[in-house]
Amino acid sequence: MKLSKHTPIKIQGGGIAGLSAGIFLKQAGYDPIIYEKNKACGFSRHGDIEGLETWNFCSNPIDFFTQLNIPIDFNFKPENKITVHFDNSPSVQIVDKNPFFYFVKRGMEKGNIDKELQTFALSIGCEIRFEYTPEIEHISIIATGSKKANAYIQGITFDTQLPDQTYLFLNDSITKTGYGYLVIWDGQATLSVAYKKSESQDILNKLKNKCKEKLEIDLPENANSFASYGSFDINAPKVDNDGRMFIGEAGGFQDYLFGFGMNSAIHSAYYAIKSIAHSEDYKLLIKKNIIPHMKASLLNRYLFEKLNEKQKYNICKQLSNSTQPLQILQKQSNYTFKKKLMFKLLNRKLNIL
Ligand SMILES: Cc1cc2nc3c(=O)[nH]c(=O)nc-3n(C[C@H](O)[C@H](O)[C@H](O)COP(=O)(O)OP(=O)(O)OC[C@H]3O[C@@H](n4cnc5c(N)ncnc54)[C@H](O)[C@@H]3O)c2cc1C
Repeated sequence: MKLSKHTPIKIQGGGIAGLSAGIFLKQAGYDPIIYEKNKACGFSRHGDIEGLETWNFCSNPIDFFTQLNIPIDFNFKPENKITVHFDNSPSVQIVDKNPFFYFVKRGMEKGNIDKELQTFALSIGCEIRFEYTPEIEHISIIATGSKKANAYIQGITFDTQLPDQTYLFLNDSITKTGYGYLVIWDGQATLSVAYKKSESQDILNKLKNKCKEKLEIDLPENANSFASYGSFDINAPKVDNDGRMFIGEAGGFQDYLFGFGMNSAIHSAYYAIKSIAHSEDYKLLIKKNIIPHMKASLLNRYLFEKLNEKQKYNICKQLSNSTQPLQILQKQSNYTFKKKLMFKLLNRKLNIL
């Protein structure tokens, strides 16, 4: 697909990936048009708190935004302490001097990341057409988010007077293959559980009950609830026969281990625009810069699902005893020579690629 600075480049989908792509294109001297099917970017999000993690791609995603000349107009909160709960082991606190996450809020409220990326994109001259789904022939970049449900997520958001804190629930009685979390930030809380379909039965109630039991907190009856799913697919097409590029979850870009897709969305957008601006091969850029992270996370996911609660506790205990737990996570997310060998073996067994 031939793209020039004289004709608009059309992006389908105005989520984190599509907005980032629009911004990068405009900054590179192109004229992007973003088509968003809803009436605003972030419309389908629920004001839930999500984390830009600091171990898969870069240790400071906020600095990464700055390097890319995207102003940090959205609210964020670094988090360097996580308390992990189990059914049959004591709770564990993992603390690092550097943040594990930069929390952001999703949605169209002022200060939320979607809203502020939209505002910035418009301010630099990106065109966004809302409530519009164009014919595929006119599109160059597909950023329409998750297609296939590989993992599910349910949760609630509510107001609270509790202080800021972050909890992870690795209780087998909630989910053996997923995890629950409670994040409280500035009077707002997100309680949520990520899981596989086979574990869906009453799962949010199980998390709510465990949360009440472990933390002795009252959960309001009138909390806003949400449910969604995510696509993880290393094999999803990255470019179609007409040269359209897939970015974000539309391209299957996700962290297989915990479903952290925001960094993958931004990075895949970055490489798509790099390929346009510098005539580089998108597939090669992806293969070099994103696929290794996906392979490492896929392997980590496979191992995670094999662990019982006690083994998860032992790992958390090790992290808790370490002075640099984040470095351990970062090391485990690298696609090292050892991981390559392990991936080869896994691929032979499961035919992943
Ligand atoms: C509840 C929940 C919690 C999560 N927590 C985290 C977290 O803590 N950390 C993290 O990194 N990731 C998290 N994720 C994953 C992360 O939100 C996604 O991976 C990321 O938002 C993907 O960005 P995207 O731009 O590819 O897709 P999306 O953000 O889904 O955006 C796609 C956009 O395309 C629009 N669209 C769809 N179809 C069309 C069409 N035909 N025409 C026009 N527009 C269309 C949609 O309306 C939407 O605005 C979470 C996901 C969920 C659901």
